[in-house]
Amino acid sequence: MNFSSKLLEDAVNEFSKLPGVGQKTALRLVLHLLNKEQEEVDTFGNSIIRLRKDIKHCSICHNISDLPICGICSSNKREKEIICVVEDTRDVMAVENTSQYFGVYHVLGGLISPMDGIGPSDLFIDSLVQRVATTPVKEVILALSATMEGDTTLFYLYKRLKDFQIPITTIARGIAFGGELEYADEITLGRSIVTRVPYVNSITK
Ligand SMILES: [Zn+2]
Repeated sequence: MNFSSKLLEDAVNEFSKLPGVGQKTALRLVLHLLNKEQEEVDTFGNSIIRLRKDIKHCSICHNISDLPICGICSSNKREKEIICVVEDTRDVMAVENTSQYFGVYHVLGGLISPMDGIGPSDLFIDSLVQRVATTPVKEVILALSATMEGDTTLFYLYKRLKDFQIPITTIARGIAFGGELEYADEITLGRSIVTRVPYVNSITK
């Protein structure tokens, strides 16, 4: 693309670094912003700057939070002894949207993926084991995507947790998840949380 302005070119280049945004879309977005009031563009820019600078991760569950301990971990309405293990914050949002789950979470920050060079030590797995070892836990629910990485991670977590003698369950899998937890519809996901099964049943096949 031949740009008439370096500022325009820089902005288009930054937008086109976003997932799923090509140069044409980036240009359309940038021109759209140019037509907005200064104040509106400032708000837009500031929210991105503050997002990166000010956002925190809950020191207990690692979910994205504005405070050192997130609203779910600090709520006295949640059952702290039931931990639902998920890949990332999108999955927390998906499970919360079902309104069927009242325990707390543990966000791994990804899945084990040898192909991408992501091993157990790159994820918040030790802190999960630590939580189970040091706080009263009645059940760990493994709610990971039905993908190869999800399966690998499930099995690894099971091995790390099985000696604690607590129920380790998994959400019903193989139904219409489309592979990714965040894409499951609320009713299906809600039902699979309620009808979760012992993980060990799913590996003895
Ligand atoms: Zn938390």
